[in-house]
Amino acid sequence: MTGSLVISLDFELLWGVRDHATRGSYGANILGGRKAIPRMLDLFARHGIRATWATVGFVFCESREELFDALPPEELRPRYDNPALSNYRYLDEVGKDEAADPWYFGKSLVRKIADTPGQEIGTHTLSHCYCLESGFTPEAFDADLSGAKKLASRQGIDLQSVVFPRNQYADAYLDVCRRQGLKTFRGNPQSWAYRPTGGSGQTRLRRALRLADAYSGVLGSHIARTSSENGLTNVPASRFLRPCAGKLAPLHPLHIRTICRGMTRAARSGSVYHLWWHPHNFGKSTEENITALQQICMHFERLRSDYNMCSLPINSFMENADDA
Ligand SMILES: [Zn+2]
Repeated sequence: MTGSLVISLDFELLWGVRDHATRGSYGANILGGRKAIPRMLDLFARHGIRATWATVGFVFCESREELFDALPPEELRPRYDNPALSNYRYLDEVGKDEAADPWYFGKSLVRKIADTPGQEIGTHTLSHCYCLESGFTPEAFDADLSGAKKLASRQGIDLQSVVFPRNQYADAYLDVCRRQGLKTFRGNPQSWAYRPTGGSGQTRLRRALRLADAYSGVLGSHIARTSSENGLTNVPASRFLRPCAGKLAPLHPLHIRTICRGMTRAARSGSVYHLWWHPHNFGKSTEENITALQQICMHFERLRSDYNMCSLPINSFMENADDA
């Protein structure tokens, strides 16, 4: 069995961070992330990398009208105990269309991704909803996914993979995904520090451990095997590609080395190495981040030539994928 490199990107624009950031505080990163996407696609095309772009449903829209038309009925929208989590709360501030409001609309980029050979477009839910936050329900999730599917299918895209916002999921939500026809999802690394939890479970200790692990690999390489869960294939994440930014920027080469070591282990053992990030992580210090990604791509090319490692999107792990 040959090893695989899986890359998934959570493409969410401002919807992914709106509960704790605004256009003013994070808008420049979002715009920088938009500019970085064609460069990532270019790197992927040059190195034969097939990535999954898990896209927030609202991002598929090109105008306010299209977005409002896709919203689930009022009674099926999320009702979190903490209302700030709901992106429906911010609909009033959304502009007219993508030209006027590139922080919230991304149809042109979705097309660009879809037009790049080998890329998969999956879902990151319609509204960037949080399955483990108190007040959210499987019924609201079902309505949310229906909206996401509707918007994707208008562009001829059949959603097969799901990446859960903030990596929050549980059995009841996987069941909804299966009923909605999704086949594959990105799970979390096995280690305790990475288990799915709501925001309140993200303790300082967990965060500190994950940070140390990112630069040293102290919790292991997180190479994985896929498994079947509630009728979907779990393609577990190995590592979040941290941005090269801020105080930790001088340590970034250690992070890239940790990733490359993990990829090598996966290639040698015939396992999966699943790397993920958000386009907006490349929104600042874009050159440095593209250079780091290029190093990863070049390492992949070496592993492909030495161990026959392949690059696969998440949906290629669905059951019976070979028969399709
Ligand atoms: Zn997200």
